[in-house]
Amino acid sequence: MGLIECTSGASLWRGYDYYKENKVKNLIETSPGLFTADVEGNSDELYIVEIDIEHPRKSKCNCPHADGKRIVCKHMMAVYFTAFPEEAQRIYNEVMTYQEQADKRAEDLYKKVRQCVWKMKKSEAQQALLEVLFYGPEWQLDRFVREHDLEDGYY
Ligand SMILES: [Zn+2]
Repeated sequence: MGLIECTSGASLWRGYDYYKENKVKNLIETSPGLFTADVEGNSDELYIVEIDIEHPRKSKCNCPHADGKRIVCKHMMAVYFTAFPEEAQRIYNEVMTYQEQADKRAEDLYKKVRQCVWKMKKSEAQQALLEVLFYGPEWQLDRFVREHDLEDGYY
């Protein structure tokens, strides 16, 4: 297991941002698979970070989140991405590809729904609309009432 598998989604992306913002300073590979660096925090603080590629949970950072715990924090991830920029790029591409596929799926679904609605008979469409209005979220009914000026007697 690498650092990526040991961290949280939030720490992964905050670490990625830190890496992109060049918050990692004085990166040194002290021995194979062992890196130390200073990482600038959100304010003026500077954290001392050591990452262990072989044993991610032995990585150290003196930030309040990770100090003395076996947590892989955003500062460690920032150091990791700075040491392995190609990994940062790979993760970024992976997420972007996933996002594009998700967008494509949503778009396809909208298309299908639209086609389905156009093909409906008027009575079917009316029935479907009533169901959406009466069993969907209340704001839909409220909006329908407002737009069709049905306010009187509704309350
Ligand atoms: Zn930290």
